Amino acid sequence: MARTKLVAGNWKMHGDTAANQTLLNALKSGAAAAKAAMAVCVPAPYLAQARSALAGTPISWGSQDVSAHASGAYTGEVSATMLKDFDCTYAIVGHSERRSYHGETDAVVAAKADAAIKAGLVPIICVGETLAEREGNITAEVVTRQLDAVIAVIGAAGLAKSVIAYEPVWAIGTGKTASPAQAQEVHALIRARVAIADAAVAAGVQILYGGSMKPGNAKELMAQPDIDGGLIGGAALVAADFLAIGAAA
Ligand code: PEP
Repeated sequence: MARTKLVAGNWKMHGDTAANQTLLNALKSGAAAAKAAMAVCVPAPYLAQARSALAGTPISWGSQDVSAHASGAYTGEVSATMLKDFDCTYAIVGHSERRSYHGETDAVVAAKADAAIKAGLVPIICVGETLAEREGNITAEVVTRQLDAVIAVIGAAGLAKSVIAYEPVWAIGTGKTASPAQAQEVHALIRARVAIADAAVAAGVQILYGGSMKPGNAKELMAQPDIDGGLIGGAALVAADFLAIGAAA
């Protein structure tokens, strides 16, 4: 099955109103050259700005996290329905920075993916191993555990409404990229694992690679049979780089 490619930017905790506007304007002007679908996941306070800049353009927007709770006394959290209220398409869940700095467990990530889907958002579900786990030869075990926890909650039907991102933690923000063969091996493993739940869903689900993807390595990574695009951190803050990745798909 031919899957469309998606290139999604994760701005992390960067930006301010003026800098965002410059970046969004540049993305808008260059979006026509993109071969992939494009999206930006911005800090929550700037969702309204993203919406007003990007509405009517081919670029979608989304959040970098979402609460597992629907509403209530959860100070500081942002619910999926609030994100929907700002016309978000995507919500990143389970980014390794959330897992490591905020103690998000596999169960929490699964609950967040579920909350996103129930509100009509597409969760971008991040999985990936640390350097110690790769060196300990437990990459497959770790990624399978992370994925299975999500599948147990959202099932194949939920995965059909999700995007998966394989992000080896050792490659995020480090300048070290998984080689195309290393990335492809894990992407194939992820797709095979989804196929156990549902073969048709596995054939259709987009699996993005994330971890120091840049204009110079994007084409080769995205040429791999099971790599359906990228989740881009640092390079998403530079309009020319992000657009070049979108054009390399
Ligand atoms: C990320 O944070 O999701 C990411 C892939 O970052 P970078 O591209 O900077 O490695």
